[in-house]
Amino acid sequence: MATHASTSDSPATLNQSLADSGLRATPQRELIYNVLLNKRDHPTADEVFVRAKAEMPTISLATVYNCLETLVARDLVRAVNFERGPTRYCPNLRPHAHFHDERSGATHDIDLPPALIDQVKAILPPEYRAEAIEISFRGSTAR
Ligand SMILES: [Zn+2]
Repeated sequence: MATHASTSDSPATLNQSLADSGLRATPQRELIYNVLLNKRDHPTADEVFVRAKAEMPTISLATVYNCLETLVARDLVRAVNFERGPTRYCPNLRPHAHFHDERSGATHDIDLPPALIDQVKAILPPEYRAEAIEISFRGSTAR
């Protein structure tokens, strides 16, 4: 998981964050961002493409990839990777771990308390500076 200062994920943040780096909040970027906010199930780029196309039939897969790259580069969205699987996208910027349910394929957010993050960082040798911590679980939920 990556710890970001921002806790807000409203479209205002999108406009501001893009503007800060000299980028415009194009309709395509807004759409992709909203697709991620509306259904927080950690979709792949292909899944984002299908959802975006339902709203904007002319959008291309290449544009979807470009928008996702921009949002990740601006720290508005996190790219999540599990071994072997395609990259998934998560708009939750609060410090959290991921629980990957191997039976259903679903990925769940698990909030990480700040005290726990401090504890995890404390196990590093003093000269190590962590910019991000990624914690992921694999297993199944008893449902
Ligand atoms: Zn997540």
